[in-house]
Amino acid sequence: MRRIERSPLPKKAARSLTSFQREANAAQISGSKQVGAFWQRHRKKAAFSAVLEVLGAMAGDRQRCMYCLDSHGTDIEHFWPKTPYPAKLFEWENLLLGCTECGRLKGSKFPLDATGNPLLLDPTADDPWEHLDFDPRTGIISARFDRSLDDYCPRGKETTSILQLDRREALAIGHKKTYRRLAQIVEEFLTQTQHDAQALLSSLREADEHGLLPWCFCPRGGEEAPFAALREKLPEVFALCAAELKAPAA
Ligand SMILES: [Zn+2]
Repeated sequence: MRRIERSPLPKKAARSLTSFQREANAAQISGSKQVGAFWQRHRKKAAFSAVLEVLGAMAGDRQRCMYCLDSHGTDIEHFWPKTPYPAKLFEWENLLLGCTECGRLKGSKFPLDATGNPLLLDPTADDPWEHLDFDPRTGIISARFDRSLDDYCPRGKETTSILQLDRREALAIGHKKTYRRLAQIVEEFLTQTQHDAQALLSSLREADEHGLLPWCFCPRGGEEAPFAALREKLPEVFALCAAELKAPAA
């Protein structure tokens, strides 16, 4: 998962979404059948070409699923699920691009914390690596251990469990491949005599298909070779990368 900046919708599409929502609220739709039918009917309207276009642009060149970054993002995904939350059915901030597998795994699972906030991480609102950890040897993503809580991050735990981030073999293989490529770029950089930090950053970003870079430059990732070697030999380059990539400080 990576942090994705949400772009604004074109005004016309935004106005359409607002009017669909008003219509849904007035009709007081409820239950999966009614909500599903209402969504399907409106999903065919022109505003959704613009919605898909903006979501696709937010997801990047390869249009990957915003949750797993591995499979192709094919569906408009409601972060707050449709049926229990029809008031967010056409809310732009609630729409993501998802893959079939993540959609199936998430289903209607959407646990909230004691204050009513979602435990699932929203890639357009949260910094995933504040809550998640990565094992470069297995390629598996899991919840980050939070020393202040003396426990694993609750949102990391729920996100891992809902999307089965620690149990999807294809995902782990993809992560390992991306990590190897990132490590290779840093290894090559270390052999150069001139060190252009911006060029390094741009090669790394280009290769980071699975959003692993903030982890690589956080204190945990920075202990792994060759990132550890970069931190030791060129601390200013490491610090610049960490800042630019918004790597978690702990
Ligand atoms: Zn996915």
